[in-house]
Amino acid sequence: MADLRFDPVFGSWVAIARRRRERPMEFISTQEIQQQIICPFCSGNEDETPSEVVAFGAGGEVLTEPGTSGQWAVRIVPNKYPSLAEPVQAPSGGPYASFDTDGTQEIVVPSPRHITSYSELTHDEAVVAMKACQHRNRQLAADPAVKHVMIFMNCGLDAGASLGHIHLQIMASPFTSPYVNRRAKLHQQYSAQHGVPLLRSLLDWEVDCQLRVVEETEHFFVICPYASRHAFQIWLVPRDSGPLFLDLKAEPLAELGLLLRKYVDCLETVLDKPSYNILFHQPPTSETGSAGWYVEIFPRLTRSAGYELGTDVWVNPVAPETAAKRIRSASKTQA
Ligand SMILES: [Zn+2]
Repeated sequence: MADLRFDPVFGSWVAIARRRRERPMEFISTQEIQQQIICPFCSGNEDETPSEVVAFGAGGEVLTEPGTSGQWAVRIVPNKYPSLAEPVQAPSGGPYASFDTDGTQEIVVPSPRHITSYSELTHDEAVVAMKACQHRNRQLAADPAVKHVMIFMNCGLDAGASLGHIHLQIMASPFTSPYVNRRAKLHQQYSAQHGVPLLRSLLDWEVDCQLRVVEETEHFFVICPYASRHAFQIWLVPRDSGPLFLDLKAEPLAELGLLLRKYVDCLETVLDKPSYNILFHQPPTSETGSAGWYVEIFPRLTRSAGYELGTDVWVNPVAPETAAKRIRSASKTQA
């Protein structure tokens, strides 16, 4: 169960997650403690995690007998320290709403090797990682109780990671947050008014401007969005606004995995290996067709300060036009 509380002042939800305090914190522990932390995601340490939900071989095949070290390429396991599983019932009353709920929280380990960035994945690992995320996203979204699936990655201490070995996370919740609902509504309203999906209009305009387009591939546009909230924010937006992430065919899915690897590498070249987040922005599971989804990468160069926290107006010290230019150059050097 989760201790989920609604804040009527901010219109946001808060998950009280006391068990998160028990996580081993590799980045902020002393060297002595760090040496005692066994990486639970490395090959050979499979017993350090709960049993697999599913595991994949190097060719992307689902393994019938996962859990053997040396056999798996990508492994999905339940999160040992979930944010949406709180055994204590929320005290309620007064003007605050709260409810007990639960969600599924899983870790996708994209490599048995102890690597610390998505850019270090091999070609095949980057492709199979996307296949694994899509496989599990499909299964979770098929449950009528699941209302939203969030896939994300925190890499580095400033991005919220507790362990160095890279891992994606999948959270399937029986609710949609006000933030997710608001975004879905904005898409619906735009489509209804203009007869074209919002992201399609944004892409058409960016192509006309050519100031913030980093790359156009067969299946995706890579752009630094006009109103970037973060410095060097990158969006990977599908050309075809029809299929959702969980409906992507094998070719665009593989391209997405490789583009993520490429542009994390570019950010690391331009910015000297910053912490970063990768977010898969997906609509509620009830939405279909052109509801709009995309993947975002952004480095954690600054912390949210008083003005952002007080007004929800973001302050970005790097114009997206400048960011696009620098990322484009790094991308050409790399190619
Ligand atoms: Zn490891």
